[in-house]
This record gives sequence, structure tokens and C-alpha cells, in this order.
Amino acid sequence: QAKRAGRGVVVVYTREMEEAAKRITRIEQALRRAVAAGEVEPHFQPIVDLATRRVVGFETLARWTDRDLGEVSPAVFIPIAEERGIISQLSQLILRKAAEAAQDWPDGLFLSFNLSPSQLVDQNTGLQILSILERTGFSPRRLEIEITESGLMSDPASAARIIADLRRVGIRVSLDDFGTGQSSLGRLRDFPFDKLKIDRAFVSSVLDDRPSEHIIRAILAMCEGLGMEAVAEGIEEEAQVHRLVEFGCQGGQGYLFGRPCDAERTLVYLRRGGGQAWQSPVH
Ligand code: C2E
Ligand code: MG
Ligand code: MG
Ligand code: MG
Repeated sequence: QAKRAGRGVVVVYTREMEEAAKRITRIEQALRRAVAAGEVEPHFQPIVDLATRRVVGFETLARWTDRDLGEVSPAVFIPIAEERGIISQLSQLILRKAAEAAQDWPDGLFLSFNLSPSQLVDQNTGLQILSILERTGFSPRRLEIEITESGLMSDPASAARIIADLRRVGIRVSLDDFGTGQSSLGRLRDFPFDKLKIDRAFVSSVLDDRPSEHIIRAILAMCEGLGMEAVAEGIEEEAQVHRLVEFGCQGGQGYLFGRPCDAERTLVYLRRGGGQAWQSPVH
């Protein structure tokens, strides 16, 4: 009987893996088609100066709705694009569309853009970004690139070269999701970051958990010492803002200030004077 149960488990497990593999391949094929057709869209989430609540820039977040699969989360399709070798094409499509959209924004606002780990291993990445900026006429001084620590690990020398090339033309570099994953303080010593984004995991528990409070304060002290700006991610409550300002955190981002919106709605929001003070694009 134990044998039969054991065998049963193996069969179920294999079938589940097979189903998962099939779904990934379906997503991959649909994504290839969507990228070729230019159907993945950048959405934009405001990043604010916490003390004044003015919008200072927007983070680009990829959105994709397939006619059969429906809306697919970037948390699902970005890793598949990475694994199946579509990320560079996908990334260029999103950056081009985002830079075109951001051309219509007030000059003072920056555009922030996520790079995937595998793009920091690919020495073409720097040139691809620069040529998109050239073609769209978007100033590198208004662009920020967000990278995660995992992007620095597989080939640190390659990542360092790409980061140096980007910074040379005035692009700023942020360390995203700081405090989660493969964190090492050594990386803050080895790589020159302009900004550090404190992961939502700490921000969401800053009000009710002493360890999170101490961790955030320590990160902010470190940012100050290293000359980096800090941005708190995932702010959802007013009370979190007060706490973060009290601790000296300059930047913030989260549903409280605005959810990611498409290019059109972002522009309508900005033309109405949004971003002068706290005014959420959607509510
Ligand atoms: P991320 O770069 O850390 O982006 C922040 C994520 O947190 C976004 O999820 C955003 O919608 C979500 N978020 C923002 N404010 C709040 C909040 O107040 N509460 C909560 N619960 N969530 C909030 P999203 O758009 O699903 O993206 C997930 C991840 O997918 C991103 O994490 C990023 O790693 C990746 N991603 C998205 N777009 C791109 C892209 O164009 N290229 C690359 N390489 N990665 C992307
Ligand atoms: Mg990000
Ligand atoms: Mg983040
Ligand atoms: Mg995050």
C-alpha cells in the first residue's frame, strides 16, 4: 500500500510539472507574439518627495493583456522572458514606449526603468539603452535604472561595466528591493548607487514592528553616509508617511500616492496639475 501511495505521489507530481511546463510554454509563445506586435505597455507609478508630496518621477511597470490568457502579471512573464531569451527585446520595447510617453511630461520629472538580472550580463544592454534614448530624444539625465542585487551576482565585472557606462552619460542607478534576497553590504561598497529603494516588506511593517523600524533607520543612516537617496516602496497608509518622514526618508512610492496608470491617464493627471501636491491619479 505504501508503495502504491508512493507511486501515486510521483505520478501526480510529474503531471503537475508537465502542466506547469505547458503553461510556461504557452505564455512564452503568446509573449513572443505580443512583443513582436508591440503589445506590451508601460504603466507608470508616481514617486514622490515625502516631505512636500510632490511627484518627482515615475517608475515604469510593464503590463500585458493577452486575448486568450487575459492579464498576465509581470511577476510571471518577466521571469519567463528572462529564461526564454525574450527579455532584451521586451525591455527595449517597454523603454522605447516609456521614453516616448515621458517626452510629454514636465522636464523636471524623471523616468525610472527596471533592468532584469540577465541584462546586466549582456554587454549590449548599455548600447541598446543609449540608442533608444537617442532615437526618442529623451535625456539620459532624466533616466534612472533600477537593478536588484541578484543582477549583480552572476557576473559582477560585467554589471560594473554596464553601470559605469550608464552613469557616464548621466543615467542614475538605483538598487531595488533592498533588504530582501541576497543582500550583502559589500555590494554597496563595490557598486556606485545613486539611490536605494527600501523593500515594501519593511515599509509595510514599520508601524507595528520594532525590528522593521530599526532596520529602516539603519538603512537611512547608511544612505546618508554613502550619499545615496532613499525611497520607501509600498506605502499604503498615511501613518507610514509620518513615520518615514520622521526618520528622514526623502522618497516614497505606493498605492497611497497612486497605482500604476497607463501613459494616457498619467498625462491627463499631469496636465490637470497633478504632481504639484499630493493628488492621486486614480481613486
Ligand atoms: P518592483 O520593481 O519592485 O516594482 C514594484 C512593485 O510593487 C510593482 O508590482 C508595483 O505595482 C507594486 N506596488 C507599488 N506600490 C505598492 C503598494 O503600495 N502596495 C503593494 N502591495 N504593491 C505595490 P508589479 O507591477 O506587479 O511588478 C512586479 C515586479 O515585476 C517589479 O517589482 C519588477 O521587478 C518586475 N517588473 C515590472 N515591470 C518590469 C519591466 O519593465 N522590466 C523588468 N525587468 N522587470 C519589471
Ligand atoms: Mg522597481
Ligand atoms: Mg522595487
Ligand atoms: Mg519590490
